[in-house]
Amino acid sequence: MLGRITSADELEVCEEVGRGAFGVVYRGVVKETNKQVAIKQIDLESDQTDLFEINKEIQIISECQLSQITQYLGCFVKRYQLWIIMEFVDGGSLFEMLRPGPIKDETVVSIIIKEMLIALDYLHNQGKIHRDLKSQNVLLSKQGEIKLTDFGVSAQLSSSFSRRNTTVGTPYWMAPEVILNNSGGHSFKADIWSLGCCAYEVYNGKPPLQNKFPPMKALQRISSCYRNNDFIDMIGLSELGISSLFNDFLTKCFIVDPRDRYSASKLLNHKFITQYDKLTDKAKKVKKLITNKQLNDLENHVVKNHNFYVPTEIVRNQQKWNGQDENDNRIEFDISSIEYDRDSLSSPPLESPSSSKKSMTPESPIEKSTKPKDSDPKQDVLIKILKPEFNKVLNKSFHKLETRNNLSTKEYDQIVNLNEVILNLVSFNANYNDDNKKILVFQYLKYMLKELGKESEPESAKSILQKLILPSSFSKASSINQKDEHGEASSNYNSLKVSKFDEIEKSLFEAWVNKTREKWA
Ligand code: ADP
Ligand code: MG
Repeated sequence: MLGRITSADELEVCEEVGRGAFGVVYRGVVKETNKQVAIKQIDLESDQTDLFEINKEIQIISECQLSQITQYLGCFVKRYQLWIIMEFVDGGSLFEMLRPGPIKDETVVSIIIKEMLIALDYLHNQGKIHRDLKSQNVLLSKQGEIKLTDFGVSAQLSSSFSRRNTTVGTPYWMAPEVILNNSGGHSFKADIWSLGCCAYEVYNGKPPLQNKFPPMKALQRISSCYRNNDFIDMIGLSELGISSLFNDFLTKCFIVDPRDRYSASKLLNHKFITQYDKLTDKAKKVKKLITNKQLNDLENHVVKNHNFYVPTEIVRNQQKWNGQDENDNRIEFDISSIEYDRDSLSSPPLESPSSSKKSMTPESPIEKSTKPKDSDPKQDVLIKILKPEFNKVLNKSFHKLETRNNLSTKEYDQIVNLNEVILNLVSFNANYNDDNKKILVFQYLKYMLKELGKESEPESAKSILQKLILPSSFSKASSINQKDEHGEASSNYNSLKVSKFDEIEKSLFEAWVNKTREKWA
């Protein structure tokens, strides 16, 4: 288990990864261990902040130790903000996975729902209720894990601090008894109804009724369901074209009376879940969702939030109030102090409609990031742009490879790992005007290709190796005077010599630099 984090000094705060009702979530890195964490920052000065709710959230997640629930790593207050530190889940939310379209593979639905059931079974056994289950609150890791997060409105039944009767949740995922406020002592079953809505959502892209009714109308319709078939008919379950097992599973989630509705442990034994128990490539299927989402984002130019954290303005403002800075009479009310980089300026972030920068001046200038290290800011931006750019290249190459070869789970993992290694080997902070500094990994690849491209005896082990490894255009050229598969005479090896490989390295590097310059222009 990771050690507890007790102060902001232990952390480097990176880009924003999400936003919700309470505040902003950033990715962070623990300086000492280099481990990634998620930082949920809650503004303690905001009227919307309910300390009671927050305290409860912390208490509940701090008591959970399960791989299907995001792990709590500590919390502290820094300058009017409460920071909650959690394990960072690096693949994105289930909601984001639905961006390319609904997940029509029931096997995948079953795999995801099973992990959510394991989490619910664990919570319910401890008398905890999540109360806001929906795709935004389910996270995926690049290892293929599924984790529940966001216990902001969750409840602890055994505790005296529980506001048991508050109506919470998000309309389309809400159970009838939650809306009507009569759970008959089975309030944890509301999570099961929401789970059914999630399963439906994953398969259809939207939760039940979202395409039919606005939220308030939906609430009214859900709460009007008395017989078990009312809801099933309302959402047209029989016309979905799903398997009878999936249909039956959903029917058990949507039993109107919470006392009769199946529990998590009972649903874990449902055939829709157990039928895939022996499946070996579950993680691979989940990882594929992440790859799909990344590709879809690339193709549709979805720009990820590139908002970077800078420390709060409060101290600066105090100086201004005290008249220490006479030239500057602007007062910035800063909640999370966002800096937008060029990417996010040209294309607004998808899931964060409102800017959190509150200012009393009509135009609030974008503050420069004040990174703790005294590094060259230009260089920093270069890294911020080049690294994601190169990651795109890797992802695209990976996807090509993956679609053309039926990779085994092991191969899949190995290549994902390789990509990570390559990404780390590329020294983006190399000054691109400095010819002495090379991009390590390409220098290495260049040497390797050069070495492999060297002339060899026909039929020797080396020539076989060359044929296996070198890209077809290179190997074609290296097998002198031989006909290639199309019967054309190959070009001379000499024409290929060393300079070609230098060009590869050079053109790749120049392409990045040019692209970066365009972005800056
Ligand atoms: P809220 O209670 O405000 O809805 P959440 O805890 O749901 O806040 O976080 C909002 C978003 O931030 C999530 O939908 C997710 O995209 C991102 N997020 C939250 N926690 C993590 C985490 N541990 N790792 C990665 N991303 C996270
Ligand atoms: Mg949330």
